[in-house]
Amino acid sequence: MTLENPENNPPLGINTRAIHHGKSFAKSTGTVMPPIFQSSTFEHGNPEKFDYTRSGNPNFRILESILASIEECSYSTVFGSGVSAITAIASSLQTNDLVLCEENLYGCTVRLFEQVFKKFGLKTHWVDFTKEISLDSIQELQPKLIWLESPTNPLLKIININKVCQLAKREKIPVVVDNTFATPILQKPLKLGATISLTSTTKYINGHSDALGGVVCTNDSDWNDRMVFAQKALGLQPSPFDSWLITRGVKTLPLRLDKQIKSASLLANELSENPLLDSILYPFHEHHPQYALAKKQMKQGGAIITANLKATKEQTYSFCKSLKYFTMAESLGGVESLICHPATMTHAAVPLEIKKKLGINESLVRFSIGCEDFSDLSQDIQKALGQLQ
Ligand code: PLP
Repeated sequence: MTLENPENNPPLGINTRAIHHGKSFAKSTGTVMPPIFQSSTFEHGNPEKFDYTRSGNPNFRILESILASIEECSYSTVFGSGVSAITAIASSLQTNDLVLCEENLYGCTVRLFEQVFKKFGLKTHWVDFTKEISLDSIQELQPKLIWLESPTNPLLKIININKVCQLAKREKIPVVVDNTFATPILQKPLKLGATISLTSTTKYINGHSDALGGVVCTNDSDWNDRMVFAQKALGLQPSPFDSWLITRGVKTLPLRLDKQIKSASLLANELSENPLLDSILYPFHEHHPQYALAKKQMKQGGAIITANLKATKEQTYSFCKSLKYFTMAESLGGVESLICHPATMTHAAVPLEIKKKLGINESLVRFSIGCEDFSDLSQDIQKALGQLQ
C-alpha cells in the first residue's frame, strides 16, 4: 500500500487518523465499517486491480492505509503475524549476508534467524546496543542489515535509535526497528532514521487478543517492493477477517494506550517500593538504566513492566498463577492484563547460557497492563506478592 504524499496530509490528530480508514471499497452502500471481503479471488480486469487475496485484498488495503497514516510513512504492507513480517524482511537477504542484531531480541526472532535462516546461509552477530557501538565496529562487520528492538522484550532496554541510524547511514546499512512494544503512538522509528519499522499488530494495534497480524512500514520504495513481493511469493498475507478485526481494534489504540500507560506508571512506582521485589524495569521510572534516553526518545513509558521477584522459580510460577486479573499467557498489549514468565514462555527457545547472560532469569516476570481499573490490578498484585512471604 502506498500512501500518497504522507507529508502533505492535513495535520489530523492521532485519534482521527486511527478511526477514519478512508476508502471502504463499497461506496454505493454508505457502509460505516468496511465489509469483510472474504473472497480468495477477484474477477480479472476489475477497476481496483485485485486479482487473488494472497497478493492483495480490500481489507489489507484499508488496514495498510490506517497503519501508514499513524506511522506517518509512505508505504505499509500487512502480514499474517509479526513473525511473518520478520520473515518477509529476512527473506529478502542473500546467503552470507550478516545481520547485526541487538542481543535481547524477541525469542522467536532469535529462533527464526538461528534455526531457520541460518540453514540458508544467513549470518548473525549479536551485540548489546545500549553499550557504545562505534562506526569502526560497523565498518569492520559490514552487516547487510541492523536489527533493533526498543524497548526490548522482556528487559525493556532502550536503544538510541537515532544514534545507531546515523552510524548505519554513513555505511548505507538499512536499520530495522521492531516497534511492537512502543507502537507508532509512542515512538516513530522512521522519523528517528530507521529504514523499516516493524510491528506485531497482534499486540497493542489490535488490542483485543483475537487476531494475529504484522506490518512493515517504510519510506523506501525498494524495501516496499520487497515486502509486496514477499507477501505474495511466500504466502505471508493475513486473512481478510483478521485484517478487519485489526482495523476495528486500531480505532481505540490511542484511548486504550492512554489508560494502560496511566495504570502502568502508577504500578511501576508502587512495585519499585515493594521489598518483595529485587528490581523493576519501566522505561519512564527514574531507576531504569536508560531513563534519560527513554524520556527523550519515547512519548510515554508504555504499558509493560518487567520485575525481578525475590523468589525461586517455583514461587515465581505460583505468583503468576495466583493473580486473578493477570492471566498467565504469552502475548501482550490487549485490554486484558497478562503476566508472562519469559524464561519458560516467550524466550524458551533462547539457549540457557544466553538467557543467563542477558538476565532473563527464573524469577523474572513481565506484566502487560490492560484496561482494567488500576485499583483492582494493584490489589491483585499486592495480594499475590503477599502470598510469597
Ligand atoms: N516482535 C515482538 C517484540 C514481539 O513481542 C512479538 C510477539 O510477542 C513478535 C514480534 C511476533 O509477533 P506475532 O506473535 O504477531 O508473530
